[in-house]
Amino acid sequence: MPKHHVVIIGSGFGGLFAAKALRRADVEITLIAKTSHHLFQPLLYQVATGILSEGSIAPATREILRKQDNVKVLHGLVTGIDIEARTVTHRMHDAQITTSYDSLIVAAGAGQSYFGNDHFSTFAPGMKSIDDALELRARIFWAFERAERETDPERQRRLLTFVVVGAGPTGVEMAGQIRELASITLRNQFKMFDPDSARVILIDGSSQVLPPFGEYLGRKTQESLERSGVEVFLNSIVTDLNGRSVTYKNADGELVTIDSTCKVWAAGVQGNVLGKSLAEQTDAELDRAGRVIVLPDMTLPGHPEVTVIGDLAFVPGVPGVAQGAIQEARYVAARIADRVAGRPLSDQPFKYHDKGSMATISKFSAVVKVGKVQFTGFFAWVAWLGLHLLYIAGFKGRVTTLLHWVLSFIGRGRSERVTTNQQLVGRLALESLGQNVTAKLLRGEKGGTNEPRIEG
Ligand SMILES: Cc1cc2nc3c(=O)[nH]c(=O)nc-3n(C[C@H](O)[C@H](O)[C@H](O)COP(=O)(O)OP(=O)(O)OC[C@H]3O[C@@H](n4cnc5c(N)ncnc54)[C@H](O)[C@@H]3O)c2cc1C
Repeated sequence: MPKHHVVIIGSGFGGLFAAKALRRADVEITLIAKTSHHLFQPLLYQVATGILSEGSIAPATREILRKQDNVKVLHGLVTGIDIEARTVTHRMHDAQITTSYDSLIVAAGAGQSYFGNDHFSTFAPGMKSIDDALELRARIFWAFERAERETDPERQRRLLTFVVVGAGPTGVEMAGQIRELASITLRNQFKMFDPDSARVILIDGSSQVLPPFGEYLGRKTQESLERSGVEVFLNSIVTDLNGRSVTYKNADGELVTIDSTCKVWAAGVQGNVLGKSLAEQTDAELDRAGRVIVLPDMTLPGHPEVTVIGDLAFVPGVPGVAQGAIQEARYVAARIADRVAGRPLSDQPFKYHDKGSMATISKFSAVVKVGKVQFTGFFAWVAWLGLHLLYIAGFKGRVTTLLHWVLSFIGRGRSERVTTNQQLVGRLALESLGQNVTAKLLRGEKGGTNEPRIEG
């Protein structure tokens, strides 16, 4: 008898922890992901700002799962899910492979949302992947390098004005780190300008920074950012963006334009396009962010064999954080194991246990909220370090991260400042070549096709 076959899409927190939680179940697992690594997204900003290398936060998925005999890892982009036929189709370069499943766990995560202004992405990359972080690193350091040979003061000013859109944890961390780069890391390294003169601006439409952390921690974070020199503009909605500037509508309804070359987008989230495909084939609906509204047991209406977890699933009261994805993964894995073993399924819905949230502001400063306990400052920062170290997958990742942290936090240097032209323009170059371009380029042919872009 063939074993019950579980297909998992995604190797993020949802996909990886679902596979691990099924290690003792009598099932065969195929995990398909478009990236060959498991990415620890919370530390992406440290890759973007030269503290960590990409390898420290993105170990190979097959290495993590190497001792688990019941899982096969496949690298490829899932392009189709057929709910009736119970198959998943994925592509790797030229090859297209269709895999059938008995149970399907979709953990494909979410991408950046530009709220209908997708063209903004050309000028203000988001931060969801290793590619994004390396592109941002290249853009940030390139702006400083370019400013060194700029003789026109106005153009130099534009190059030295960094705008971060979105004052959630990622935006706060990015703004804090760019400020620290300018004031501390790059001190005395340029001859034609003082890096400390760079402007770092954080813009958000809401009335406080870090809205999910509440008013007190939001205020403390804003004060700390402003003390370090970050300019915080709240109640301000970005209305336009191009290669040279950002325009926003301020609290008084006035349009203000800031000249800036380097922009970072950390403002919105959009569920992976696979969610739309699931909604079209079932009675499941999507929320405004394109996340699949799942049943209380994380399945889709009429399809107990299909579960959606993590950032792609909408569950009331569950934030889009790693713990949400991990807990959902363990819940659905336990149910699949019970079903396969013939054990009665409990009618307990998924219940989220909030273990708290934290974000760093700058070196030696963070905010922590665990239930009613909230604190900020050095001890919050130490708690943040310890917890993040604990959750990085693999011993090697933890050791290299710790070493880099010691170097960066005790001294003022950053050891991961390599930037290349490929990082700077690779994404835009590939986009201009069109879809399905990789295999052609590898064969020595030129150009892509005009097929619609497949998001992933
Ligand atoms: C910059 C940043 C900072 C964050 N900081 C924190 C934090 O401090 N604390 C916290 O708790 N949470 C944080 N989060 C949120 C947390 O990382 C997410 O909630 C979590 O990663 C969600 O897990 P997931 O498995 O649903 O999605 P992801 O981790 O995004 O994984 C999605 C997976 O699906 C794969 N995939 C996508 N599309 C396809 C396709 N078509 N075919 C095949 N594979 C596909 C991807 O390659 C990836 O492996 C942060 C997120 C970001 C972006």
